[in-house]
Amino acid sequence: MLDLRRALDYSRPVPSRSHALLQAGPRALDLPVLSIRAGAGPTVVVTANIHGDECTGIGAILQLLPELEDQLLGGTVHLYPSLNPEGLEQRSRRVPGDDQDLNRLFPGDARGNPSERLAQAIWEDIKAKKPDFLIDLHTDAASAIPYALLDRGIQLRGDTRRNLEQRALTLAMASGLTILEEYPEDRYRRYRLDRALTGAILNRLQVPTVTLEAGPRLYLEEGSVATLKAAIKGILFSHGLLPEAPLPHPSRILGRWRRDAGPRAGVAGILVPLVRPGVILKKGAPVAEIWSLTGERLEQLVAEAGGFVVSLAERSHVVAGVPVCTWAFSEEL
Ligand SMILES: [Zn+2]
Repeated sequence: MLDLRRALDYSRPVPSRSHALLQAGPRALDLPVLSIRAGAGPTVVVTANIHGDECTGIGAILQLLPELEDQLLGGTVHLYPSLNPEGLEQRSRRVPGDDQDLNRLFPGDARGNPSERLAQAIWEDIKAKKPDFLIDLHTDAASAIPYALLDRGIQLRGDTRRNLEQRALTLAMASGLTILEEYPEDRYRRYRLDRALTGAILNRLQVPTVTLEAGPRLYLEEGSVATLKAAIKGILFSHGLLPEAPLPHPSRILGRWRRDAGPRAGVAGILVPLVRPGVILKKGAPVAEIWSLTGERLEQLVAEAGGFVVSLAERSHVVAGVPVCTWAFSEEL
């Protein structure tokens, strides 16, 4: 139906939608790229499903598409609903075939193994779009609060690093989610997080990035899809691309938090969580217990510092050394 008010508003460009297939990697995978254009303004890239079992972002992109077609006020938004369509089909985090974590391979290698070639094709396609910022959509665990995760500019120095990290923080704040900084610098480097898509774009292209995490893996859960969609819309609103901002997520915990491993099991047994994600705890507060199948409590694990559980480990049985949760750590508690 023709919206008369809209049709008569000549000051506002009518968004147009186009659809391309990126032929990526040695197996010539078709990666859809959906682009909404509404005239002058920033260029935004939103990517999802780089981990094939993390599909909340696909749902968020599919729901966002008609809304952007209707409401985008300016600029261009490129949506990549799945960077790992084979992993999606096979319910696998990694790329089936060579079993690589695609999100540790950027900027990729045109002469490397199949996953490195896939990473390289994705990298070149995103780079050619010259994004002003990038949002990557992930899923942590079934029992988790949603959050915005910030990379570290470990390959950058001085003002360049400070300015870029500050711009990334602004994206995270506009998401309306709890904000976590990545692991401390030594572990960030050791885990090769500067070769994750967001880490590589931040460090190598000097483009601000943010990772948004929500929902359970493997299926589309309505509330988590809505959470991710609202978080993206908050960021687009903050750049003048949408007319309205959603409310911050009710789970948001303000402050400076850093992603960390939670307490580790000292013995093997049944993991019994004692707390919900997102509840602030003092140092020494009980977090989980380990029980035997014969009904003995083998161990109680406590908070090693003040903070809160971000996500509970998706396992009912643990062995010694396994962290029982992801922890949000604060210097100030
Ligand atoms: Zn992921």
